[in-house]
Amino acid sequence: MTDPYMAQELTTFLVCPRKYEFEHVTELAGETRRNQDLFQKLLRKSICTGYSEAQSNGGDPRDAAMAALYSTWGLYAGATDHHSSQQESTEKTRAEAGIEAYFDAVGTTHLDQIEQAATVCGAPVVGPDITLTAEIQGQQVGVDVDYIMADDSRIVGVRLTDRMWINNVPNESDDEIVEEHLDQGDYEPEKVGSVIAARIAEEALSQYGSNGNGTGLMYLSVMEDTFETDGRCEAVTDRRQMGLFLADRRQTVDDAIAWMVGNIANERYSPEEVFDEQNFWDGDFQQVVENTCRYCSHAAGCQEAIRREVKFDV
Ligand code: SF4
Repeated sequence: MTDPYMAQELTTFLVCPRKYEFEHVTELAGETRRNQDLFQKLLRKSICTGYSEAQSNGGDPRDAAMAALYSTWGLYAGATDHHSSQQESTEKTRAEAGIEAYFDAVGTTHLDQIEQAATVCGAPVVGPDITLTAEIQGQQVGVDVDYIMADDSRIVGVRLTDRMWINNVPNESDDEIVEEHLDQGDYEPEKVGSVIAARIAEEALSQYGSNGNGTGLMYLSVMEDTFETDGRCEAVTDRRQMGLFLADRRQTVDDAIAWMVGNIANERYSPEEVFDEQNFWDGDFQQVVENTCRYCSHAAGCQEAIRREVKFDV
């Protein structure tokens, strides 16, 4: 079986097809938010270790998560560009607060539902980074989640983040984000990418659903907000179920997935051709230029960017 097209890759195509070619065909590194990415990995690893240990030996998941945080902190800190020991210490305090807040908010509830999911799925349900795969319009697609949980009505993949904006999760008020991007020509590719991820998770988990059980994706920010009180750091978690963004829009999202994969399969990476000459998206390449090119790390080697500069010089 060929590798699935991952939601994150498809999001890059939606941002700019040429950028997709650089990062997923030529395999040049894209922009990194290195410290942020490492920090999210640390949180995911700590929380998932807490649940794995609780599942295997019945221990307290919070204690095991904290132990995992402390045991990996040295490696994490060594790989991160902290400016000072004070910054590192502050970040450690924030991570502790986030994990505490997470287990206060959902720790045992989610542990119960993870155990239920293990029975329903009969497959590993605690990651981090479990790849769920699905077939949508004949295309193999995938998405990473950190754990799966189930109750009597739903099976849900959970993706942990430190804050929602880092994963470009749309606000509830953005419930028309798919139409606004795909039908009205707004340019919000990353947020639409979060909805694509949700659609893939929903479809992938449907293999375990029965009796009309729903499936879906939840983003959970471990430290949506942090604040100082009495010399201590406190964190606030947030959860967002993605079903709202898919209601009545599955067909639109599926069509978008098929459109992107069709272009990729035919090696069509010219953003002008994909965005201006095809009718699928109502926006145009100019929006890529205005919103993305100026920050793009591939501009020096990008034929579209170079062509534009030459035009500008004339
Ligand atoms: S410079 Fe612009 S056109 Fe070129 S890859 Fe980056 S975003 Fe795409």
